[in-house]
Amino acid sequence: MRPLQLTFAIIKPHVVKQPLVLETIRDMILTSNFKVVKTRRHAFTLKEAELFYEEHRNKFFYNRLVTFMTSGPSDFYILARDDAIKEWRKLMGPTKVFKTQFEAPDSIRGQFGLSDTRNATHGSDSPESVRKEVGLFFPHFDIENWYQEEEPKFRANQ
Ligand code: UDP
Repeated sequence: MRPLQLTFAIIKPHVVKQPLVLETIRDMILTSNFKVVKTRRHAFTLKEAELFYEEHRNKFFYNRLVTFMTSGPSDFYILARDDAIKEWRKLMGPTKVFKTQFEAPDSIRGQFGLSDTRNATHGSDSPESVRKEVGLFFPHFDIENWYQEEEPKFRANQ
Protein backbone atom coordinates (compact mmCIF):
# COMPACT_ATOMS: atom_id res chain seq x y z
CA MET A 1 0.00 0.00 0.00
CA ARG A 2 1.41 3.40 -0.97
CA PRO A 3 2.51 5.81 1.77
CA LEU A 4 0.19 8.65 2.67
CA GLN A 5 1.14 12.27 2.19
CA LEU A 6 -0.32 15.29 3.96
CA THR A 7 -1.65 18.36 2.24
CA PHE A 8 -3.25 21.57 3.44
CA ALA A 9 -6.53 22.78 1.96
CA ILE A 10 -8.87 25.72 2.41
CA ILE A 11 -12.51 26.02 1.42
CA LYS A 12 -12.90 29.72 0.77
CA PRO A 13 -15.49 32.06 2.36
CA HIS A 14 -18.04 32.19 -0.49
CA VAL A 15 -18.40 28.38 -0.33
CA VAL A 16 -18.69 28.25 3.46
CA LYS A 17 -21.70 30.56 3.08
CA GLN A 18 -23.43 28.03 0.79
CA PRO A 19 -24.26 24.83 2.74
CA LEU A 20 -25.18 22.71 -0.28
CA VAL A 21 -22.02 23.57 -2.19
CA LEU A 22 -19.98 23.00 0.96
CA GLU A 23 -21.57 19.57 1.41
CA THR A 24 -20.87 18.67 -2.22
CA ILE A 25 -17.20 19.63 -1.90
CA ARG A 26 -16.88 17.64 1.35
CA ASP A 27 -18.34 14.62 -0.47
CA MET A 28 -15.85 15.12 -3.31
CA ILE A 29 -13.02 15.13 -0.75
CA LEU A 30 -14.14 11.83 0.79
CA THR A 31 -15.04 10.04 -2.43
CA SER A 32 -11.61 10.99 -3.80
CA ASN A 33 -10.06 8.92 -1.00
CA PHE A 34 -8.77 11.77 1.14
CA LYS A 35 -8.79 11.25 4.87
CA VAL A 36 -9.63 14.27 6.97
CA VAL A 37 -6.84 14.49 9.54
CA LYS A 38 -7.79 17.86 11.03
CA THR A 39 -10.32 20.55 10.29
CA ARG A 40 -11.28 23.92 11.72
CA ARG A 41 -13.45 26.87 10.75
CA HIS A 42 -11.80 30.25 11.13
CA ALA A 43 -11.89 33.71 9.55
CA PHE A 44 -8.48 34.91 8.32
CA THR A 45 -7.26 37.93 10.23
CA LEU A 46 -5.67 40.63 8.09
CA LYS A 47 -2.25 39.66 9.47
CA GLU A 48 -2.75 35.98 8.61
CA ALA A 49 -3.93 36.80 5.08
CA GLU A 50 -0.92 39.08 4.49
CA LEU A 51 1.46 36.39 5.70
CA PHE A 52 -0.30 33.58 3.85
CA TYR A 53 -0.27 35.44 0.53
CA GLU A 54 3.02 37.30 1.00
CA GLU A 55 4.51 35.88 -2.22
CA HIS A 56 1.68 37.62 -4.15
CA ARG A 57 2.20 41.02 -2.47
CA ASN A 58 3.10 42.79 -5.71
CA LYS A 59 0.45 41.18 -7.91
CA PHE A 60 -2.51 43.12 -9.27
CA PHE A 61 -4.99 40.86 -7.47
CA TYR A 62 -3.36 41.00 -4.01
CA ASN A 63 -5.65 43.56 -2.34
CA ARG A 64 -8.76 41.94 -3.77
CA LEU A 65 -7.58 38.53 -2.58
CA VAL A 66 -6.78 39.68 0.97
CA THR A 67 -10.11 41.55 1.22
CA PHE A 68 -12.00 38.48 0.05
CA MET A 69 -10.18 35.99 2.28
CA THR A 70 -10.84 38.13 5.37
CA SER A 71 -14.53 38.60 4.45
CA GLY A 72 -15.82 35.60 6.47
CA PRO A 73 -14.96 32.16 7.82
CA SER A 74 -13.08 29.60 5.74
CA ASP A 75 -12.78 25.88 6.44
CA PHE A 76 -9.20 24.67 6.93
CA TYR A 77 -8.18 21.04 6.40
CA ILE A 78 -5.21 18.80 6.81
CA LEU A 79 -5.86 15.98 4.35
CA ALA A 80 -4.04 12.69 3.82
CA ARG A 81 -3.84 10.46 0.76
CA ASP A 82 -1.18 8.93 -1.46
CA ASP A 83 0.24 11.80 -3.54
CA ALA A 84 -2.09 14.16 -1.67
CA ILE A 85 -0.54 17.46 -2.81
CA LYS A 86 -0.84 16.62 -6.52
CA GLU A 87 -4.17 14.82 -6.21
CA TRP A 88 -5.83 17.67 -4.27
CA ARG A 89 -4.62 20.22 -6.82
CA LYS A 90 -5.98 17.99 -9.58
CA LEU A 91 -9.35 17.75 -7.83
CA MET A 92 -9.39 21.56 -7.38
CA GLY A 93 -8.62 22.29 -11.05
CA PRO A 94 -6.76 25.27 -12.53
CA THR A 95 -6.50 28.62 -10.72
CA LYS A 96 -8.09 30.62 -13.55
CA VAL A 97 -11.80 30.10 -13.94
CA PHE A 98 -11.83 30.42 -17.75
CA LYS A 99 -9.28 27.61 -17.94
CA THR A 100 -11.38 25.30 -15.77
CA GLN A 101 -14.14 25.39 -18.36
CA PHE A 102 -11.84 23.89 -21.01
CA GLU A 103 -9.48 21.81 -18.95
CA ALA A 104 -11.43 20.51 -15.94
CA PRO A 105 -15.15 21.38 -15.92
CA ASP A 106 -15.85 18.64 -13.33
CA SER A 107 -13.18 19.87 -10.91
CA ILE A 108 -14.15 21.81 -7.78
CA ARG A 109 -13.15 25.13 -9.35
CA GLY A 110 -14.78 24.10 -12.63
CA GLN A 111 -18.08 23.62 -10.86
CA PHE A 112 -17.94 26.20 -8.08
CA GLY A 113 -15.32 28.80 -8.97
CA LEU A 114 -16.91 32.21 -9.46
CA SER A 115 -13.79 34.17 -10.41
CA ASP A 116 -9.98 33.86 -10.24
CA THR A 117 -10.16 35.14 -6.65
CA ARG A 118 -13.38 33.40 -5.56
CA ASN A 119 -12.15 30.10 -6.95
CA ALA A 120 -13.58 27.97 -4.14
CA THR A 121 -10.50 26.28 -2.69
CA HIS A 122 -6.80 26.50 -1.94
CA GLY A 123 -4.24 23.72 -1.91
CA SER A 124 -0.55 23.74 -0.97
CA ASP A 125 1.79 23.33 -3.92
CA SER A 126 4.77 21.60 -2.22
CA PRO A 127 5.76 19.83 1.01
CA GLU A 128 7.46 23.10 2.11
CA SER A 129 4.18 25.01 1.61
CA VAL A 130 2.32 22.31 3.56
CA ARG A 131 4.74 22.81 6.45
CA LYS A 132 4.41 26.60 6.38
CA GLU A 133 0.63 26.66 5.95
CA VAL A 134 -0.14 23.95 8.51
CA GLY A 135 2.18 25.79 10.91
CA LEU A 136 0.11 28.96 10.46
CA PHE A 137 -3.33 27.47 11.00
CA PHE A 138 -2.69 24.30 13.02
CA PRO A 139 0.26 25.44 15.16
CA HIS A 140 0.00 22.47 17.54
CA PHE A 141 -0.01 19.85 14.80
CA ASP A 142 3.30 17.98 14.63
CA ILE A 143 3.83 16.92 11.00
CA GLU A 144 6.98 14.89 11.63
CA ASN A 145 5.28 13.00 14.45
CA TRP A 146 2.25 12.32 12.21
CA TYR A 147 4.47 10.71 9.56
CA GLN A 148 6.27 8.61 12.18
CA GLU A 149 3.42 7.60 14.48
CA GLU A 150 0.06 8.14 12.81
CA GLU A 151 0.64 7.47 9.11
CA PRO A 152 1.32 3.75 9.62
CA LYS A 153 -1.92 3.44 11.66
CA PHE A 154 -3.97 5.32 9.04
CA ARG A 155 -2.49 3.11 6.33
CA ALA A 156 -3.21 -0.07 8.28
CA ASN A 157 -6.89 0.96 8.41
CA GLN A 158 -7.16 1.69 4.68
N1 UDP B 1 -5.50 34.74 -7.67
C1 UDP B 1 -6.34 35.78 -7.98
N2 UDP B 1 -6.31 36.28 -9.24
C2 UDP B 1 -5.48 35.79 -10.20
C3 UDP B 1 -4.63 34.72 -9.86
C4 UDP B 1 -4.66 34.20 -8.58
O1 UDP B 1 -7.12 36.25 -7.13
O2 UDP B 1 -5.49 36.28 -11.33
C5 UDP B 1 -5.57 34.19 -6.31
C6 UDP B 1 -6.37 32.89 -6.32
O3 UDP B 1 -7.37 32.95 -5.34
C7 UDP B 1 -5.36 31.84 -5.99
C8 UDP B 1 -4.31 32.62 -5.17
O4 UDP B 1 -4.31 33.91 -5.76
O5 UDP B 1 -5.97 30.79 -5.29
C9 UDP B 1 -2.94 32.05 -5.22
O6 UDP B 1 -2.52 31.98 -6.55
P1 UDP B 1 -1.71 30.74 -7.13
O7 UDP B 1 -1.14 31.15 -8.45
O8 UDP B 1 -0.78 30.27 -6.08
O9 UDP B 1 -2.87 29.68 -7.42
P2 UDP B 1 -3.36 28.34 -6.71
O10 UDP B 1 -2.13 27.66 -6.17
O11 UDP B 1 -4.34 28.73 -5.64
O12 UDP B 1 -4.02 27.59 -7.82
